[in-house]
Amino acid sequence: MLISEIFVSIQGESTYAGLPCVFVRLAGCNLRCSWCDTPYARSAEGAKEVSATHILNEVKQFKCDLVEITGGEPLLQEGAKDLAVRLLDAGHGVLIETNGSVSLAGLDERAVKIVDFKCPSSGHAGSFLIDNLNFITPADEIKFVIGNREDYDSAKKFLDEYLSGRTQKLLFAPVKPSLEPKVLAEWILRDRLKVRFQLQLHTYIWSDERGR
Ligand code: SF4
Repeated sequence: MLISEIFVSIQGESTYAGLPCVFVRLAGCNLRCSWCDTPYARSAEGAKEVSATHILNEVKQFKCDLVEITGGEPLLQEGAKDLAVRLLDAGHGVLIETNGSVSLAGLDERAVKIVDFKCPSSGHAGSFLIDNLNFITPADEIKFVIGNREDYDSAKKFLDEYLSGRTQKLLFAPVKPSLEPKVLAEWILRDRLKVRFQLQLHTYIWSDERGR
C-alpha cells in the first residue's frame, strides 16, 4: 500500500474529537478540493510503499486503541478494506475518513465511516456517490465542510432529502479562513439544525504542523 504518513495525535474532528488516535494516511486522491489541508497526500509523490503487516506493526508501537485510516482518499487503494479488517481483528477501534465519491461497499461493518459530502465551494459538488447512502449506519458520521452560505444551504438540502433516519451524527465545520466560525454557528442556531458544529481541534494545538 502507498502511505503518506503514520502518526499519533489528538483526534481533531468527529464525535471522537479529543481522543488519542493513530492516523494512517494513505496516499492518492481522486479529488482536488479548493481548501484541501493535506495536498501532500493527494499523489504518490513522497509516499512509501509498505505492506499491511508493516502498517500494523507501526500502529502497534503507538499503544493506542483508536486508529483512523485517512488520506488522500484511502478507499482508492485495494488493500484499505483488508487493512481495516486486520486492525479491527487486532482489537482497535477503526475510523475510516473518506471523501464520499468512492464506494463503501465491502467495508467491515465494525469500522465507523466518516463520510464527506462535498459542498460547492470545494469545487466537487455532485461528487457524492448516492449509492453510498445504502451503507450508512447510525454509527457512521457525515461531514460537511462549509465555506459560504451556498455551501450551508446545499448541506441543509442534502440533510432534508437524504439523511433523515440514517444517522444523527452530522458534522458541520467552517472552512478556515473563508467562513467565520461564529457565522456558521449563528446559521445553525437560527435554524435549530440538529447537527454538531466542529472546529479542527488539532489546529488549535499545533496549527497546521504536518504529522499532528
Ligand atoms: S478529498 Fe480530501 S485529500 Fe482529497 S483533495 Fe479533498 S480534502 Fe484533499
